[in-house]
Amino acid sequence: AQKHNKKPDWLRVKLPIGQEYAKVRKIVDDHKLHTICQSGNCPNMGECWGAGTATFMILGNVCTRSCTFCAVATGRPNEYDADEPRRVAEAIKLMGVKHAVITSVNRDELKDRGAEIWYQTVVQVKETSPQTTIETLIPDTKGNWDALTRMIEGGQEVVSHNMETIERLYRSVRPQARYARSLEQIKRTKEFGKRTKSGIMLGLGETQEEIFKAMDDLAENGLDVLTLGQYLQPTKMHHEVIEWIHPDTFAMYKEEGLSRGLKYVESGALVRSSYHSERHLA
Ligand code: SF4
Ligand code: SF4
Repeated sequence: AQKHNKKPDWLRVKLPIGQEYAKVRKIVDDHKLHTICQSGNCPNMGECWGAGTATFMILGNVCTRSCTFCAVATGRPNEYDADEPRRVAEAIKLMGVKHAVITSVNRDELKDRGAEIWYQTVVQVKETSPQTTIETLIPDTKGNWDALTRMIEGGQEVVSHNMETIERLYRSVRPQARYARSLEQIKRTKEFGKRTKSGIMLGLGETQEEIFKAMDDLAENGLDVLTLGQYLQPTKMHHEVIEWIHPDTFAMYKEEGLSRGLKYVESGALVRSSYHSERHLA
């Protein structure tokens, strides 16, 4: 496995430093908010934060799940913070974000899966920044479809739910999730009338045929926008990188996805679900 450990050149990116970056960092800290950019050590922070955008993570920074690719801490979360929606809305207003991306940890221990906080967050962002479009990257509600409705009825433009990987790898990558259940969530979100989006990480050991199958399943269940990016291992404790996918292969997947009926496919080593997401609104 030694040969897999060295990052190829196309994944080396410059470190972020600049005025806009510092401003975003200060607003996030002042409002005691969490971002997936920081929790996930995202390689695009220089670009995104430098452009005044960030992905907020609500409902705390401790998750009830233990996906093997994810750097967010697993455990029993604290009581949730009813003031968080207000602070998120204020931060987004101060940052002047045109397209806000919001995500959360999983709160399987809550009966409503955190849906009320989700709803309040979207409503308050819309109230304080009416021109801002909102993309919500929501967790799997474990088949609680009332919670799903509450999470998506606040007025956001895009509802994302990441499949993360292909069906066979769910047990080792997303042990508490179910492939069919996540597909159903996407289908129901589409039926509710929302623009749907999902992301898959590549390099976890999937085959090309398995990726094509996932694309077919997603197209069949009403997916509009798909993102495909290279999986990066956050620490040695996490799932290994099995393969570095070549840029030409990412380009091929984009064509395959479009030919399978998906409206937009962002495919590239550094693509993350929130990367360039303002482009998929129309
Ligand atoms: Fe944050 Fe997403 Fe940009 Fe990464 S791609 S820095 S997670 S907004
Ligand atoms: Fe990370 Fe989301 Fe999995 Fe929680 S549910 S471990 S935040 S990927």
